[in-house]
Amino acid sequence: MADQADIERILRRLQGSAFRRKFSLGPVEQQLMRRHGAEVIDEHARRFVLERLAGANPPNDGRQTPWRGHPVFVAQHATATCCRKCLSEWHRIAAGRALDEQQVAYIVTVIGAWLDRQAMAGGDKPDPPGLFED
Ligand SMILES: [Zn+2]
Repeated sequence: MADQADIERILRRLQGSAFRRKFSLGPVEQQLMRRHGAEVIDEHARRFVLERLAGANPPNDGRQTPWRGHPVFVAQHATATCCRKCLSEWHRIAAGRALDEQQVAYIVTVIGAWLDRQAMAGGDKPDPPGLFED
């Protein structure tokens, strides 16, 4: 089972990747965070993981996670929990096998930890003007 130190370690390692580091929540995702609160967002994370990642061979693997539109999607790219290939490369979770309950819990924890840090890094600022303009 992953403890706090494991989570810190993987988040630090991800920060070392120029690709992973560039992700941050946009205004739409920040607003969803505030509207739902961390607890509900965690439930969404769990649902996305179960629906899109947990099977042995998820459909469209590598393309099942949108780039934006929900804070969890952004967090998944930032934490390399977006597809089974990234899970195997970064988290040593073997592809081709259904995720077990412990692995699902670990992934949801990593996503939640990244979102916590985003909130601390200024995600609580008021919405910028023109949020819903295109
Ligand atoms: Zn991926």
